[in-house]
Amino acid sequence: MAAESDPDVQATLCSDLLNFSARDTALKWLQATDLPKDVYLHLARYVPKIFCRSPNPNPKNEDMLTQHILTGPMEWYLCGEDPATSFPKLEQANRPSQLCGRVFKVGEPTYSCRDCAADPTCVLCMECFLGSVHKEHRYRMTTSGGGGFCDCGDMEAWKKGPYCQKHEPNSSDPSVEDPLAHLSEDMIARAYNIFSIMVKYAVDMLTWEKEDELPTGLEPPERQDSYYCMLFNDEVHTYEQVIYTLQKAVSCTHKEAVSFATTVDRDGRKSVRFGDFQFCEQAKTVIVRNTGRQSKPLKVQIMHSSVVAHQCFALKVLSWLGHVIGYSEGLRRVLCQVGLQEGPEGENSSLADRLMLGDSKLWKGARTVYHQLFMNSLLMDLKYKKIFALHFAKNYERMQSDFVKDDHDREFSVTDLSVQIFTVPSLARMLIIEQSLLTVIIRTFMDHLRHRDLQGRFQFERYTAQQAFKFRRVQSLIGDLKYVLISRPTEWTDKLREKFLEGFEAFLELLKCMQGMDPVTRQVGQHIEMEPEWEAAFTLQMKLTHITSMMQEWCSTDEKVLIEAYKQCLVVLMQCHSGFTDGEQPITLSMCGHSVDTIRYRVSQEKVSIHLPVSRLLAGLHVLLSKTEVAYRFPEQLPLCELSPPMLIEHPLRCLVLCAQVHAGMWRRNGFSLVNQIYYYHNVKCRVEMFDKDLLMLQAGASMMDPNHFLMIVLSRFELYEIFNTPDYGKRYSGENTNKDVIQQNSTLIEEMLHLIMMVAGERFSPGAGQVSASDEIKREIIHQLCIRSMAHSELVKALPEDENKETGMETVIEAVALFKKPGLTGRGLYELKPECAKDFNLYFYHYSRADQSKAEEAQRKRKRQNGEDTALPPPVLPPFCPLFASLGNLLQCDVFLGILSTVLQWSVAPSGCAWSESMLQRVLHLIGMALLEERQQLESSSEDNDVTFNFTHKISRPREDPSNCPSVLAMLETLQNAPHLEVHKDMIRWILKTFSSIKKIREQTATTPVSETGGQALEETVHDQDKAERKRKAEMARLRREKIMAQMSEMQRHFIDENKELFQQSLEELEASTSTALEHSPSLPDAVLVALGPGRTRGSEKRQVVTCILCQEEQDIKAHNKAMVLAAFVQRSTVMSKNRRRVMHDPDNYDPLFMHPDLSCGTHTGSCGHIMHSHCWQRYFDAVQAKEQRRQQRLRVHTSYEVENGEFLCPLCECLSNTVIPLLPPPRACSPGISEQQNLNQWLKTISQQINVLHYLKKKQNSSSSPDAEAADQMDETLLAEGFQPDLQPKNPYSSSIKEMLTTFGTATYKVGLKVHPNEQDPRVPIMCWGSCAYTIQSIERQLIDEEKPLFGSLPCRQDDCLNSLTRFGAACWTVSPLQAVQSHFIRLLAALVPDEQVENSPCILDVDMFHLLVSLVLSYSTLHCQDVSGLSLAAGELHLFHLVTMAHIVQILLTSVPGGTPMDQESGPAEEEEAVLSLYTVLQQYQGSACREACSGWHLWRCLKAGILPYLRCAALFFHHLNGVRPPAGLQVSGASQFEQLCGYLCLPTCLMQLFQSNRELVDPLLQRWCGHPEMQNYMKDNHMLQSFPRESNRLIDLPDDYSCLINQASSFMCPKSGGDKSRAPTLCLVCGTMLCSQSYCCQTELEGEDVGACTAHTFTCGAGVGIFLRVRESQVLFLAGKTKGCFYAPPYLDDYGETDQGLRRGNPLHLCHERYRKIQKLWRQHSITEEIGHAQEANQSLVGIDWQHL
Ligand SMILES: [Zn+2]
Ligand SMILES: [Zn+2]
Ligand SMILES: [Zn+2]
Ligand SMILES: [Zn+2]
Ligand SMILES: [Zn+2]
Ligand SMILES: [Zn+2]
Ligand SMILES: [Zn+2]
Repeated sequence: MAAESDPDVQATLCSDLLNFSARDTALKWLQATDLPKDVYLHLARYVPKIFCRSPNPNPKNEDMLTQHILTGPMEWYLCGEDPATSFPKLEQANRPSQLCGRVFKVGEPTYSCRDCAADPTCVLCMECFLGSVHKEHRYRMTTSGGGGFCDCGDMEAWKKGPYCQKHEPNSSDPSVEDPLAHLSEDMIARAYNIFSIMVKYAVDMLTWEKEDELPTGLEPPERQDSYYCMLFNDEVHTYEQVIYTLQKAVSCTHKEAVSFATTVDRDGRKSVRFGDFQFCEQAKTVIVRNTGRQSKPLKVQIMHSSVVAHQCFALKVLSWLGHVIGYSEGLRRVLCQVGLQEGPEGENSSLADRLMLGDSKLWKGARTVYHQLFMNSLLMDLKYKKIFALHFAKNYERMQSDFVKDDHDREFSVTDLSVQIFTVPSLARMLIIEQSLLTVIIRTFMDHLRHRDLQGRFQFERYTAQQAFKFRRVQSLIGDLKYVLISRPTEWTDKLREKFLEGFEAFLELLKCMQGMDPVTRQVGQHIEMEPEWEAAFTLQMKLTHITSMMQEWCSTDEKVLIEAYKQCLVVLMQCHSGFTDGEQPITLSMCGHSVDTIRYRVSQEKVSIHLPVSRLLAGLHVLLSKTEVAYRFPEQLPLCELSPPMLIEHPLRCLVLCAQVHAGMWRRNGFSLVNQIYYYHNVKCRVEMFDKDLLMLQAGASMMDPNHFLMIVLSRFELYEIFNTPDYGKRYSGENTNKDVIQQNSTLIEEMLHLIMMVAGERFSPGAGQVSASDEIKREIIHQLCIRSMAHSELVKALPEDENKETGMETVIEAVALFKKPGLTGRGLYELKPECAKDFNLYFYHYSRADQSKAEEAQRKRKRQNGEDTALPPPVLPPFCPLFASLGNLLQCDVFLGILSTVLQWSVAPSGCAWSESMLQRVLHLIGMALLEERQQLESSSEDNDVTFNFTHKISRPREDPSNCPSVLAMLETLQNAPHLEVHKDMIRWILKTFSSIKKIREQTATTPVSETGGQALEETVHDQDKAERKRKAEMARLRREKIMAQMSEMQRHFIDENKELFQQSLEELEASTSTALEHSPSLPDAVLVALGPGRTRGSEKRQVVTCILCQEEQDIKAHNKAMVLAAFVQRSTVMSKNRRRVMHDPDNYDPLFMHPDLSCGTHTGSCGHIMHSHCWQRYFDAVQAKEQRRQQRLRVHTSYEVENGEFLCPLCECLSNTVIPLLPPPRACSPGISEQQNLNQWLKTISQQINVLHYLKKKQNSSSSPDAEAADQMDETLLAEGFQPDLQPKNPYSSSIKEMLTTFGTATYKVGLKVHPNEQDPRVPIMCWGSCAYTIQSIERQLIDEEKPLFGSLPCRQDDCLNSLTRFGAACWTVSPLQAVQSHFIRLLAALVPDEQVENSPCILDVDMFHLLVSLVLSYSTLHCQDVSGLSLAAGELHLFHLVTMAHIVQILLTSVPGGTPMDQESGPAEEEEAVLSLYTVLQQYQGSACREACSGWHLWRCLKAGILPYLRCAALFFHHLNGVRPPAGLQVSGASQFEQLCGYLCLPTCLMQLFQSNRELVDPLLQRWCGHPEMQNYMKDNHMLQSFPRESNRLIDLPDDYSCLINQASSFMCPKSGGDKSRAPTLCLVCGTMLCSQSYCCQTELEGEDVGACTAHTFTCGAGVGIFLRVRESQVLFLAGKTKGCFYAPPYLDDYGETDQGLRRGNPLHLCHERYRKIQKLWRQHSITEEIGHAQEANQSLVGIDWQHL
């Protein structure tokens, strides 16, 4: 191998380095005649010596040498003096640009003001934003995808407040000033020289394509055989493929391969091998062979090391230039000049051009660097920005073509700079005028869409994946078009008009290729075989939606442009039509005395297309003519006479008929593609430029036609003309046995057709069609959304069309129509419709889907009922049409219209008619209502002259004049009013009749001829009475129905209780409550005498405990000899109370868990849902689950929310995640008095230690039995002094076999989970783990009660109470299934921690022991000793002695650890006796400790610390003994309140003055204290206080979060992945438990855990949360719960916007603020150990969560 850190080279380099002088070199250069040559010589000599010396670069070294040898001389040359003095001078004289220009990092927060930004691409960096006026405005926050810069200071980007405080210009207008003015002539010349050479050098090197040669002048003096095997990135191969290939090709480890792959992905290339040519070539061959099988192989080049070296330096040069121009605007200007200076090849040959045009050939890293320099220089200089823009536009077409072929993402393409240029209005305008930018973009776009059909329309039929990929890239051109159009001109010049219209023409050409594309033909007989491609066409349509709207808006700002555009559009539309209509036969339709000529065309038989962008654009322009009043002011300039209304309406009408037919089910055989197209046609994303415009076109056409003619054509296109023209259609159908499908189809078509008439005559909310404003339109949309139901802000936004700035205009009007209701702890804030707006509700609102409509109808009827109103939903009063559309109103009174109404009514009246449907009738009624309102409105608004021509009331009161002898419409309505089958419509008919008579009245008042009034009045009266009676009857019926339902329900409850889980659960919980509170109902004793333990213990209740099995419903007594009953339980490791997350259990197999450290670093928590089963019922259930799971896994390999192989199951009742069961045990036997009652602690301890000695002896004997030892035999006699102790006694196990089995089951589970080991029921550590879990669970519940400020007793939910109860009793019983000797030896070791025992080694220091754990273990293991005692020692007395002993130790522990230094100022006097006692104890302790390590405190102070410190321990002990012995707690502990110290002491049989414990045991105390303080560890602790755990322990909380979410984003954006040097993390994730930021969901940070690759989060949970984790995914604004490797779910984040909504995924970008209540809720879940349970429920509710690979997060 060549040149791997060659010592000789190093040496020469060193000597070079020592002798090199940047100044001398620069001096030489200053005198040089051929500067470029000299500089190149210098580079040729040094660059290869500095870069690329070995396979592993040393960036620090390189940077240092670069600075010294390469850029150093350049800086000297540039400055002409020492740069260290020159640069600061430059900087001082510099007038910095008022542009901020900060280039965004990936993930950095950016802000845009919705009120002031020129467009949404104008953004501010966080610093500027906070210093700007916009932080008080409506702003949006997003995270940057990288690239782009802060627009602060750009006058064109902001309508208001363009500067932040920092970038505010000081005084004079800086743009006038020439930045070169600050530099000397010489310096300008030198800068020019050196910049020219270096930029050219960099450009040459970066665009250099030869692998083994260098440009002239750069050839290295000595050439070595050293090469790199350079791997380039592509977007085809996956990470896994690359990693696998690399491992093979260059035989590296997996880790190295991951690192290579990561770098390739980030920088675009990475050398994977260094060595001689041969060596590199080998690797290349393997890589190419391995990756080339399925696709294009990975790109690999064998590059000479000197080439790579120069390329590396070229990048450094660019960064250096960026750095240097930062000193001075003048230098920036020089660099811009150098960059854009025309090269030798003429136009577009400047260095900047060369980079742009070579962009797609560069690797990612190089692109990023030069793009940054562009942004830093060309885009920051006001003068050169314009010149650069021109260059950019000139190269535009080629760059775009390169980009389309390239496979890098757009953010790595130079074309992405378009957003920086085109969005500047002045630049965009200039480019439109000078470079025909609009036309260029559109033509370039069209060039890339080559597939056309015979008519020249786009064709996407054979649309391959590759084409789709290309198509997506092509779409970026539409984005550019949007940028150019985004700001509308305020002033038009003739040149601009010309160029815009030129662009408009190009745009029309584009639309022409879309008009009629993807046509469909109805499939009859067979279903289509293949779904036709439709998405591409719709994508195109969708992308162009905003462009089309913006084009129209541009037109609307200038009359001349509008007129010209209208003309152009019309011409193109006629061109489109010419191909169609030829050859279609003309026919004549006649009806109701009118006739019209049209063509024969059936949508159901011929081709029809949903794409009509040209017609729609014309419709849009037509409305603009009306809106801008151009139509009235310049009618002579408009080609209105050329318009043929039937031609205008033809295609939109076909399209609407197509929709109707699809609804009617006539196109079922055409598959989903058509259904989807229809869906999008109406969808809010498309409808503005599709459905809405088709309707407008119909309105425009109809307004220019005879309404009768229009309706006849409509009937004909709906293929309903025959039906309405055949008088006996209805009868015919009822008579014949016709195909039901056909009837159904026709009904739907008629309904749709009626709806269409409503829309054409009634939709007047587009400004220009009706006399409304834009805000009226949006208000109406909102009202109709809220008529469906109350909605959250985001839901409403989604339902409203957005403009190109993603604005809906909702905020400006919402308060006028809705009230905001704030959210609670869950859910979100809702907008509710203001009651007064309900009158504007239109049931047939044209944007309702059928589902929306029926929901809205239901909601509105309900509302009216609740208000005690009738339930008619009449049409709302409408605004008048604009003059251009005014004649549309006549649709509602024309003859054909009346003919249609009367026909449908006739069908409805006919009793056996089956041609009609209820919704048909409903629509007809609605139409009548619309017509009546129209008439009333015209009457009301007309002048006195009574010139209203609209006379609907008159027309419906007279019979039809045709031979059918049909009664008048009015008469038929009156008939229908009494029809029994039309109950629901009666209110509406009544409303119509009422309105009718009110109009009559108005007419009569104004008319000269009086008409009898009484008729109308009487009608109204009777209507009213009938109304009342009817309502009363209905109410009565409803009441009866309700009662019946209630009766049925209670019946059901009794019978089907197990089928209705929710109901059942309730009743079960009541049952539980009654069992668990049984104890508290025992005959009441005065509280003062309630004692929980010891010989004086109060008797617990002996009440029989009966429970019901949730599986078999049988009742069962809890008795020792009965069948076992069990509680579903979940055991988990926990660090919730941990004070030291760094302590990890290393070797679980040999770990000794006997003592818990006071930092509670990791415990075992047991929880339960409280549901009780027979053990055998549970076992049967679990076996079934197991069997099912095995079958399922074999079949589907799916995951479940629980892991059966780990013993997990879901509670059969509540589906709560469980992993074991706890047996329910009877309360302990009542205590019998014994001799030990008289023993004091000291005596008792003596007895115990005698017994222990016996055990020690026996053990020794056993051990040495193989080789008998004489000495041991001698000792035996001495030690065998324990009276009444029978160590050979084997106690009888009181429990039934099934209970014993369950004792083992739960014990083993706790052991397995707690230690993370394989189950082993014989392991002596099983009981230790059980006691530990009991103690830990009690401690954790005590904490929760404190944190929630709840009383110690009586406030726990039943399930926790039951769980504690059984856990404690289990703890007391678990020794019965363990080896007795083992448990005895635990007891011996436990006791030895407090009472010296020579035979026990390694007893811990009392500061290393959690006393509550010790207490529980001692008390629960004491039975093993006691059971062999026949002397009458009392178990109860033993408990009490042990408790006192541990309490004393804890007091000492507290005094040693928790007394802060210094005496507090305020002192009160407490009980003097206690203070004295504690002070003297403290003094003794200090003595024994050897030194007075703390200042002597006052007794008062000590006593206070002691009381506070010991309280949690006492509370835990009270819980423990309560559940162990079942003694009712005193009432004082069942209420929350101040210190309950006295109550606790009483209940726990302690003296209130705890010091008495020490005083009454004098002879014992001193040696104990001495021993405790003399422990060797103690000295260490006293030296280093930091490690001490003080008491009371504070509750752990989740970390504090900032109020403003963007702080978090900012914090995360500067977070670097800790593994891949200096790279930004893609998914920064914050641990809410400890505050660590992690690089989640990324290869770089995967680690191996128990033999599996896991992501950073999962790995973190194992150290931080014992497998459970709570994270905040910062970019996504999402909380992540993880448990183990397989379980996880997402949870709503605690951040809400002003509308009370979360923004998961940060899509909406509203400012987010911390909601403390919600965060507390998450914290509570954590403290309660409910995270795993929450995940289980989430996964059960949403199965898709189960499939996620949580471990990789
Ligand atoms: Zn800024
Ligand atoms: Zn600023
Ligand atoms: Zn603003
Ligand atoms: Zn059962
Ligand atoms: Zn349950
Ligand atoms: Zn953590
Ligand atoms: Zn990482």
